[in-house]
Amino acid sequence: MAHMVRGAGAAARIAKADALTAAGFDCLSCGACCREAYHAVEVSRRDRFVRLHPELIEVVDGRLNVRRAGPRCGCLGDDYRCSVYADRPKTCRDFERGGENCLEARQRVGLG
Ligand code: SF4
Ligand code: SF4
Repeated sequence: MAHMVRGAGAAARIAKADALTAAGFDCLSCGACCREAYHAVEVSRRDRFVRLHPELIEVVDGRLNVRRAGPRCGCLGDDYRCSVYADRPKTCRDFERGGENCLEARQRVGLG
């Protein structure tokens, strides 16, 4: 029974992801939250990202940020894929596609 509940939850998540993609929330054609919409991605000193990728951290006014490459995150590829996706900071893990901050990020880069 527990297995069936987990299966239903996974199916619901997949259906939600498909609906978001169909509605135009396709991260690979957007990338707003990883580029100009934000000037910094702050990382907690306790975040394992800091230990795993110290070369990708810069200190700005005493805060730890993911290193930038011009107007975009230094981890963002030209294809809008995150080069450290499996290890990405909690800030990025918590970012909800289709959520309030996603909508704001898209508006900031003119995607509406
Ligand atoms: S702003 Fe939203 S749709 Fe765009 S890349 Fe970020 S999470 Fe994906
Ligand atoms: S670390 Fe990855 S997910 Fe986070 S802002 Fe940079 S490119 Fe985006």
